[in-house]
Amino acid sequence: MSDISDQLFSVKNQISQACTRVGRTDESVHLIAVSKTHPASMVREAFVAGQKEFAENYVQEGTDKIIELEDLRKKIIWHFIGPVQSNKTRFIAESFDWVQSVDRFKIAQRLSEQRPRDMEDLNICLQVNMSGESTKSGVTPEDALLLCLDIAELPNITLRGLMSIPEPGASLQSMKKFQKLFLDIQQHLKRHQFKNRFDTLSLGMSDDLDRAIEAGSTMVRVGTAIFGPREPEVIEEEPEE
Ligand SMILES: *Cc1c(COP(=O)(O)O)cnc(C)c1O
Repeated sequence: MSDISDQLFSVKNQISQACTRVGRTDESVHLIAVSKTHPASMVREAFVAGQKEFAENYVQEGTDKIIELEDLRKKIIWHFIGPVQSNKTRFIAESFDWVQSVDRFKIAQRLSEQRPRDMEDLNICLQVNMSGESTKSGVTPEDALLLCLDIAELPNITLRGLMSIPEPGASLQSMKKFQKLFLDIQQHLKRHQFKNRFDTLSLGMSDDLDRAIEAGSTMVRVGTAIFGPREPEVIEEEPEE
């Protein structure tokens, strides 16, 4: 077995054990393999080892990889999880299946307008800054509900849930607070009978899988533990206009 397939196996085991501990089924947690900075050949290797969902942080890098792996386009689900600049939304709307990092109404609106009509709805998560610090990306927990109600009305996109990048070492308690916000918004949307399937809580990275799963996460995003360490990240995006 290759390293990637070994590592994938061990991450899945960790997820499975965390699920068992808190009485959840393995199927209730989606593993998203974060392939940023790694070549398409490694994505292919993980795909062959059974991984179907991948995430990218940078528009150019992500769309290049999607094109390079065109033969697998219908078999892979591609998530965009990096900061979204308004001048790059078209590329995202035309290439990806999910965008987890929407943090402004304007971005959701552009994605909605630019999603090609012959493609399925683009799945959207609102990125929330759990700790509420204004220096981090994501909306504050206080703003999340109203923004969700607005985004849920837009055509061509489906609001699927919330995403957050916890602080390193974030407590179980803070994650459960975030889960409560998610459940509250889910209730509201149900009452308003929006078409959306608001069923996704995307929380948890390599370091905090166990706690995230205990706090009800339905999606964990894992890079390093599958693909190994990354080169120091180079920010390739130009500043927003
Ligand atoms: C890079 C990244 C990850 C994966 O991080 P690892 O520590 O490599 O597992 C998860 N989520 C987001 C938003 C990221 O940018």
